[in-house]
Amino acid sequence: MKITDIVCEKRTVSLKRPFKTAVRTVETIEVMDVRLQTEDGNEGLGSATATLQVTGDSLDGMIAAVEGPIKDALLYEDMNKRNDLLLKLEKSCINNSNAKAAVDIAIHDAFGKQCNLPVYRLLGGERDVLETDMTVSINDPATMQDEAVARVEEGFDVLKLKVGHEEKEDFQRLLKVKEAVGDNVRLRLDANQGWNGKQAVHFINRLEKEDINVEFIEQPVPAHDLKALKYVRDHVHLPIMADESVFSPSEVLRLVEMECVDYVNIKLMKAGGLRRAGQIADICESAGIPCMIGSMMESTVSGTAAVHLAMAHPNIKIYDLDAPLWMKDEGLKGGMSYEGREVTVTDLPGLGFY
Ligand SMILES: [Mg+2]
Repeated sequence: MKITDIVCEKRTVSLKRPFKTAVRTVETIEVMDVRLQTEDGNEGLGSATATLQVTGDSLDGMIAAVEGPIKDALLYEDMNKRNDLLLKLEKSCINNSNAKAAVDIAIHDAFGKQCNLPVYRLLGGERDVLETDMTVSINDPATMQDEAVARVEEGFDVLKLKVGHEEKEDFQRLLKVKEAVGDNVRLRLDANQGWNGKQAVHFINRLEKEDINVEFIEQPVPAHDLKALKYVRDHVHLPIMADESVFSPSEVLRLVEMECVDYVNIKLMKAGGLRRAGQIADICESAGIPCMIGSMMESTVSGTAAVHLAMAHPNIKIYDLDAPLWMKDEGLKGGMSYEGREVTVTDLPGLGFY
């Protein structure tokens, strides 16, 4: 079963409300959809979002990678040698993890349709219902308080808050949110590399003295500074999660070796697709490190692929899958769906879009 064509399409998706972090405000996202055609007339759908600030991938750069070296490597190759095909994709060009993720997702969707199986089943899982957290944008404390209450009323019992900047303001926001939502709502804090080692330890030690229900701290220090990550983990009690420090399986091996984290956040856009995301989860499983599946601000297509992987991998135990909830209607049918904090997918073949 040969691949006969790979076609890219651009689209822009608007968010229902602006997504604000301390460094940027996102109101629309730029998406590249990939349609991979096979000789039996099937079509696999994949997508990726431009994330210049995180992976360095731009919309035009992703399209150039897919229509250039990736297409050269995969055209007329056999779909049935799926692992071989995915390795060819990985080796087709350097970096470009978002472009590779889109094509990896399209290969899985097409292969699922060919086998008449949903992707979660191809990957060894069963259909399930996952519970996601919800991010509250950075704003003044009163606005964040209102937003946190609104999200809890919608059914979310775990909120993700961005920290990592002015300590005083971070604490004001945290205390306001805690005051509004109470102790039953757990908080996940993401510093997005905002501190150095000492600042992180100072903040987290102070946090540990407050009566706030915090589950973990994500990426307290710059991505490359694994010594600082280890320093933080060794000097605080709260669990530490790596996000930007882990793109690839080889990077996660180093983190395991240095014992610098308690959890790892896997994203398909960083890993380059389902195959390598699964490898990261495998390495972490061997090391006794549970994984979270998260995403960038990305479309429902790649979000759905992340849900399929999460249902299939026993070491993916924490779910940060709210991004598609931020999107205005993308005009897609099938795929992932939400009910409050609960996320599931259809049992249709592939990713389940129709
Ligand atoms: Mg993060």
